[in-house]
Amino acid sequence: MKLLGTKGDIKEFIHSVKNSGKTIGFVPTMGSLHEGHLSLFQNAKKENDIVIGSIFVNPTQFNDPNDYQLYPRNIEQDLEMLKNLADAMYIPSETEIYPQKPLFKFTFGELETIMEGGFRPGHFNGVATVVSKLFNLINPDSAYFGQKDLQQFRIIETIVKDLFFPVQLNMCPIIRESNGLAMSSRNKRLSEEGFNVASSIYKGLLLAAEVVEVTRNANEATNQAKKFFANIPQIKLEYFQIVDAETLFPANDVKGAKPIALCFAGWVDNVRLIDNIILFS
Ligand code: AMP
Repeated sequence: MKLLGTKGDIKEFIHSVKNSGKTIGFVPTMGSLHEGHLSLFQNAKKENDIVIGSIFVNPTQFNDPNDYQLYPRNIEQDLEMLKNLADAMYIPSETEIYPQKPLFKFTFGELETIMEGGFRPGHFNGVATVVSKLFNLINPDSAYFGQKDLQQFRIIETIVKDLFFPVQLNMCPIIRESNGLAMSSRNKRLSEEGFNVASSIYKGLLLAAEVVEVTRNANEATNQAKKFFANIPQIKLEYFQIVDAETLFPANDVKGAKPIALCFAGWVDNVRLIDNIILFS
């Protein structure tokens, strides 16, 4: 595996890969990898000649400085996990990505005011900034993201469409712990009890999915999910919403004509966790 640290390194590597006519699959991450990340690399490997990943804890997407400070970092272990999955890893320093504070700002209309956008002001501007920089440097044929960050995926779809990035986006399913909790680098910050309690997030989502399937009533399902979470004092609910899985606006139609997403955000042990389920019919 080649380790690339500078823009010069990455340009040289990409140039040689492109010259040999090989396709590039790209997986951006913030490191502290788990099986969820590895599944993205596995998909990239299946569908491309060369797989490049990146590890960069992007300061501009953290609206909470404490979360940035406490974000787990574990580069050596990450590289060990990727031994057979990545051909090259781009691990830039902060000044490499931000030689100056960007003046350019992204806005995403209503998409940045709902759910994550509403609770994490500036977050999607930071995500879009770093992903655009990485797409420009790496120029991948395909890029791989997780459904866990569904709204992030819709934001990245928007920049690809609006700015003509020549990259095919792939959304990969959520990989879960055996207790149902969606894998996340932040899970490392949970206590043992918190880890067990957090398994109820998926239970609440499944309960709401069942109510939707039986009643076809989004309000009823939302109310039942909120009641379920209110009964677990260690889970502090931020939002539970049922939305159109494409637009992410509140779902008016849960009759099965369009895919819907049941989305959760909340706190356990002072750690912010998100999860979702997409129902197709
Ligand atoms: P992060 O390192 O948290 O920025 O995540 C990097 C990528 O991994 C993002 O596209 C995430 O959506 C994806 N990801 C994170 N957790 C999971 C998971 N449990 N299953 C699948 N993909 C995930």
